[in-house]
Amino acid sequence: MKQFRNNVIRAGLGALYFTGAHHLLRPIFAGVGAIFMLHHVRPHRSGEFQPNRHLEVAPEFLRAMLSHLRSHDIDIITMDELHRRLTERDFSRRFACFTFDDGYRDNRDFALPVMREFEAPFTVHVASDFAQGVGHLWWIALEMVIARASSIDAEIGGIATRLDTSTPAAKQAAFDRLHDWLRGLQGGDDLKREISMLCGRHGVDEAAICRELCMSFDELKPFADDPLIGIGAHSVTHCNLARQAPEVASQELAVGRERIENAVQRPVVHLAYPYGDRLAAGPREFALAKAAGFRTAVTTRPGMIFPESAGYLTALPRVSLNGNYQDKRILPVLTSGAATAMWNGFRRVDAA
Ligand SMILES: [Zn+2]
Repeated sequence: MKQFRNNVIRAGLGALYFTGAHHLLRPIFAGVGAIFMLHHVRPHRSGEFQPNRHLEVAPEFLRAMLSHLRSHDIDIITMDELHRRLTERDFSRRFACFTFDDGYRDNRDFALPVMREFEAPFTVHVASDFAQGVGHLWWIALEMVIARASSIDAEIGGIATRLDTSTPAAKQAAFDRLHDWLRGLQGGDDLKREISMLCGRHGVDEAAICRELCMSFDELKPFADDPLIGIGAHSVTHCNLARQAPEVASQELAVGRERIENAVQRPVVHLAYPYGDRLAAGPREFALAKAAGFRTAVTTRPGMIFPESAGYLTALPRVSLNGNYQDKRILPVLTSGAATAMWNGFRRVDAA
C-alpha cells in the first residue's frame, strides 16, 4: 500500500513537472518561502529492503536543491531570520530554511560539508534522549529485526500473528504492518516493550542504534559552535506528544529543551514536534509550544510559508525532501508549492 502511494505521489510530481502545471500554480501557491525537512543525509546504500529510505537523501540531492535555490536567487536563512521576517512582515525576498530532525551524526559528516559549499545555515532538532544515548529509534530497530528474520511473531491487536519476512517484498509488507501497529499503540511504554521484545528475540542490540547514529552531547557542542548551525529541540523521548497527558507533554518540551541548552550552552528557541503529523501535533501541542516560549515550532504537515503563517508560528508546515523522490526534475515542483498545495487540499494555513 505504501509502495502504491509512493508511486502515485511520484507520478503526481512527474505530471506536475511534465505538464508545466507547477508554473501555472506558482503565483498562487508558492507563498513567501519554504521550510525544508530532512533526516539523514548519507551516500546511497544498495539493498532492496530499505523501508526507512524516505528518511534519507544523498549528499548530491541536497547539493542539487541548494544549487537550484541559489540559481533562483532564493535566500537560505536561519529559523531566527524566518521568525524576524514573518513577525516584521518582511517579504521582499523569497526564502528557504533547512531543518534536520533527530540529531543524526550524518548531518555533521555529510550534510554540513554540502551546506558549507553554499554557506547555507541550517537547524538540527535534537531529541535529548537520542543525544544521551538512551533513545529508542524504534523504526530503525524494526528495520534491523525484519532484515535478519525470516518470520516474525507478534501479538497484533491481541491476536498472535506470524508474518513472513523471507523475501524483500514480504519484509516490506511486514514492516508496513508492524510499523502501523506500533505507531498505533496507545502508550509509549507499550511501544517500548513490544520493540524491546522483538529486538531481544531476534538479537538486535537496540541500545547501540542510538549511539551509533546520533550525535552525543559531547559531539553536539563543537557542532553547534559552527556559525552555520542552529540547534533546536525535539522533545526528550521522541514520543507522540498528542497522546500524553498535558503535564507530560509540557515536561517533554521543557526538559528536552533544557538538556539541549545545557549541552550546547546557548538558548534553544525552535522546536520540531516528534512525528509532527496531525495525529502527533494539533492545536493543544501548538499552544503548549507557545506557552513553553518557543519562537517557532515546525510540524511535518506539508505546505509552504505564507504571510498568514505569522499568526501560527508554532504550527509551521514543511516541505519534505523525501528519499523516495530524489529526482532533480522535481526540485522546481517542490519550490513552486504546487505539490504541497495538492497534498494539503490547497489550504494556505493548516493549523487546526
Ligand atoms: Zn524525529
